[in-house]
This record gives sequence, C-alpha cells and structure tokens, in this order.
Amino acid sequence: MILSGRWVVPVSSPPLENGAIAVERGEILEAGLLETVRKRYPRHESKHFPNAALMPGLVNVHSHLELTVLRGYLEGLDFWNWIRSLTRAKYEVLNEDDILVSALLGAIEAVRAGVTTLADPMDIGASLDAVLAIGLRGILYQEVFSPKPGEAEQALHSLQAKISVLEARLGRWPREARLQIQGCASTENLSQRRQRVMLGVSPHALFTVSAPLFQKTAAFAADQNYPVCIHAAESQAETQLTKDGSGPMMESFRQRGIAWNPPGLSPVAYLHSLGILRQRTLLVHCIRLEPADYAILHSQGVSVAHCPKSNARLRHGFMDLRRMREHHISLGLGSDSVASNNTMDLFEEMRFAASNPSWLSAGAEGLSAQEALRLATLGGAEALGLSQHIGSLEAGKQGDVIAVDLSMPHCLPVFSPVDALVHSARASDVQFSMVAGEVLFENGRTCGILEPALQDSVQRVRDKLLNARSADY
Ligand SMILES: [Zn+2]
Repeated sequence: MILSGRWVVPVSSPPLENGAIAVERGEILEAGLLETVRKRYPRHESKHFPNAALMPGLVNVHSHLELTVLRGYLEGLDFWNWIRSLTRAKYEVLNEDDILVSALLGAIEAVRAGVTTLADPMDIGASLDAVLAIGLRGILYQEVFSPKPGEAEQALHSLQAKISVLEARLGRWPREARLQIQGCASTENLSQRRQRVMLGVSPHALFTVSAPLFQKTAAFAADQNYPVCIHAAESQAETQLTKDGSGPMMESFRQRGIAWNPPGLSPVAYLHSLGILRQRTLLVHCIRLEPADYAILHSQGVSVAHCPKSNARLRHGFMDLRRMREHHISLGLGSDSVASNNTMDLFEEMRFAASNPSWLSAGAEGLSAQEALRLATLGGAEALGLSQHIGSLEAGKQGDVIAVDLSMPHCLPVFSPVDALVHSARASDVQFSMVAGEVLFENGRTCGILEPALQDSVQRVRDKLLNARSADY
C-alpha cells in the first residue's frame, strides 16, 4: 500500500512536501517524495490524504486503560484521597466486565488519538484484551501490590500465576477472546496482532510494594526477560515517606500496621539501594528528584515516562526537563490514566513539555518543536526499547503510521508541518491510524468494534459509579 499526503514527517529526517510511504507485509519499504515512491511501486494500492501530515504513530509510554471509566469521577481531591477513592472504586464498585468496558473505551480513545503503541500497567489483565481487540501495539505490565514485607513471597507467587494466565491467554488469542470483534479485521491480521504485544511486570510504587517484593519481582523479571515499570518520585507524600517517615503515607502505614523504617533517601535513591534499577526499567513521573538522582538514572540506563499534564492536574509539580536533557536520560511522553488527565492526547502532552518551567531558567534553550515531536514518537520508542522497530518512518521499520488533518481552522495557515503538529494539532485531528500495515481507524470508524454498543455499556458503568457515590461508599 502507498500512503501519500500533503506532508510526510518521518521524525528521523526532515519533513517532505507531497510525500509518500510504501508499506508491504507490515513493514515500511520506503518513505520519500510521492513521484519517486509511485514509480517504484506502480502496482501498490494507494490512499491519499490531501490535507494531512503522515507521521509515525504516537507512542504513549504511560497509560492505565483499565481506569478510563473513572474520567471525571475523582475531581477536586488531593492526591492521597484521589488514590484512595480510585482504589475503592476499582475494588468495591467495578467488576471484571466493567473494567473490560473501561479498557476497551481507553483503547478506542487511543487509536482515534493517533496512539499506536501503549505502555500500560494493568491489574486484572483487561488492557491485554482491549489492545488486542483494537489492534494496537503495546507493552502490558501485570501490576503487583503488597506493602507488607512478610507477604512478599506470597505476592510474588500470585504475580507469577497471573503472568502465566496472561501468557496462555495471549497464546490462545483470537480463538478465545473476552472482547468480541466484528467486521473488518481478517483472520490473518487478527492472529498477527499477538506479535505486537509484549508482557511485563509492574511493582506499582514504593508506598504499595515492600522492599523484599521489589527485589523478588526484579529478579523474576530479569530471569524471565520481562520489562519492568515502577511509579516513582511523583508526590511530596512519597518523598516524606522515604526521607523521614512523615506525611499521609506514613500515617496510613501506621494505621495498617505496616512496618517501615525510613531509609533517609530520595525515592530514586531508595529504589537504587534495593538494586532493582537497570536497563529495561521504566520509571514513571520522576518529578521530585535530587541532584544525585539524575546520575543514578543515567548510570543505570533507566528510562523515564514523563506525564506532564497529569503531574500538573494532580498538583504534584513538574519535571526538570532541562536537567533530564543535560543528563541524556531516555524519555518518552505519557498521558497517565484519564482519571488524572482527563484525555489521552499526546499533542497536549507535547505542548505541556514544550511549556515546561525549566525552560525559563537562565541560559536554557527550550524544547524545539522537532524535539517535542521526537519525544512523542522516537523518544518514546527508545524509552521502551522498541526504536529498532517503531518511532519513525524509515525503511525496515513497522508500518505504524497516522494521518493528521492540518486543514482545520485551528491549524491554518501551516508554515511548518512540525510546528503545526506540535503547537496547533489535537487528537481529534487524527483521521487515520495503521499499525504494522493494518488499518485500525479511518473514515471516523474503529475497525471491528461497535462503538454505539460500547457507549451503552459505558453509560451503565457510569450510572453504577454515580449510585455508589450517592450511597457514600
Ligand atoms: Zn500511572
């Protein structure tokens, strides 16, 4: 297939006007000028986007698809009450079917927003079903929680059992699927979707995972070659817990009888002291860092998920992006869950990163539009260890391509497609998404999913949440 557009923005090389991309058997054969590409592949079927920029699919390095139905449900709460209310809603109100609906809604939002790859920690495995049903690429981390050191062995066994179940389910897909797909996806395409999904493990955060459980989980992940994702250095309460054992998290530990000797370290230094930070570890947030933490991240080859809008909405603060750049730390952009965002829109995240207060400091150069676009694509792919396969439009990479309409009034006039994509475009301007050469979204429709039926299910879950709140759960 040849995809052609007003512009092609490969990210790894300068934009082309009247460009095209040839894709065959899921891979990019060539990205170049339309005339050249058409001559070289005269028999390929073609799709033309006269007003759009074609670019690599966006890489969202941190989402929580399972929490999508909590969008707008937890407004106005401080972080500690936000996380407690979220946990109660998840375990006391929502059942497995509700969370499947939630994850599917999130996956549809993603593909419509031009996100083609997700890195998503999940609790009950619903993100796996949703990503497969929509056809996205993803690293899906099975979460593990248990702050009591004495329960570490048991929690590890539970994690291992869950991972085995997920591996088996992945192997049996699409023969056995918890979410039904109808219509346009071919059987061959469906079975190929398995290869785009990778499993990982996520010991959630230092206030929900004990030191021995971190170490056991990291050893298991290293042994089985699973990538690891950990939330770290997000809130003031978390820093208080590790530095001197003060604050609301410590109070909660006391009430629950959880043993904790504050290590007197920053959250990053504490995780490092456990010996668990290494290549293929993705730390999410990292906004409350001490000067020495940057060197730790760099020396351990840790990648970081930057979620600027979520950090601002939860009033945690902001990342020192300037220092991150100075220390050459591998960074991608994440939306975080829409319970704290409230949209999955990486165009907005690019603008938040470009407006980061650290660029205001004397001598700072700021983040160029090209750098911001790179963060949302190739940078994210590098952070996830996938940049050999995705993140830019280059021969030999996977055919993960989106078309972004730049003809809407909020984008016009366009002097530079990169500036327009970063500073003017919105998720709703995405008109086409393809992953590994498979078209997943076009003409306003998501392939294989009946969106009106899903909307009815979302309404049902919304009513349930509302009733639970009025019952003052
Ligand atoms: Zn998160």
